[in-house]
Amino acid sequence: MVGLGPGGEETLTPQARDAISGADVVIGYSTYIKLAKPYLTNQTVLSSGMKKETDRARVAVEEALAGKRVAVISSGDPGVYGMASPILEIAPPELEVDVIPGVTAATATAAVLGAPLTHDFAVISLSDLLTPWETILRRLDAAAAADFVIVLYNPRSHGRDQHLEVARNVVLKHRAKETPLGLVKDCCRAGEAKQVTTLGDMNIEDVDMTTTVIIGNSQTKVLNGRMITPRGYVI
Ligand code: SAH
Repeated sequence: MVGLGPGGEETLTPQARDAISGADVVIGYSTYIKLAKPYLTNQTVLSSGMKKETDRARVAVEEALAGKRVAVISSGDPGVYGMASPILEIAPPELEVDVIPGVTAATATAAVLGAPLTHDFAVISLSDLLTPWETILRRLDAAAAADFVIVLYNPRSHGRDQHLEVARNVVLKHRAKETPLGLVKDCCRAGEAKQVTTLGDMNIEDVDMTTTVIIGNSQTKVLNGRMITPRGYVI
């Protein structure tokens, strides 16, 4: 399992690059195959026709058991809403499986916004495809109540237009509408766009599926356009 990082070559680790170029078979969602293109030589690429993660995981294990070196690619880190768990769940004990980490969207976007994650933070996906929406809201409510900085993955997609608004209202139960909030769309990719705004002012129309949202905690401030959650040092 290989994490490609958020975007281009600069944020792909040498270990991940070597795993891809040393593979016989590369498996992944077509968007990720595109990101991996520069490192592909003559590998067999399996992407189309495999919409389901479980199908990809099964094919990956079959190919590996047949003696191939297989790289299953995810964006960011494969262990963060990625392919690492379905594969480890089905891989037989005799199969050698390595998880190769990548720069995840939370830290990549935090770096673009400043230093919003310098204290305790929670990462929550708003995708209810595999997680009940009530569970997502319960976790969001708990994280907001406990004053965690909150990173939202999968904040919006077609058919889930209201989710982000509902999520904002849950956080607003515990946090001021002036709380700093940062958005980064297509981090480390062509057309990267960032915005530092507030929880109350966030325009949902500015958010899409390739955006990560970071909601500050009660201590987060904006200095020179950058989001900062103080670590606690006396400066
Ligand atoms: N395994 C990935 C996350 C997959 S979930 C990782 O570790 O980063 C997909 C979500 O990740 C997207 O909806 C978006 O919220 C976030 N994301 C992934 N790549 C991103 C990028 N380049 N810029 C901004 N957000 C990104």
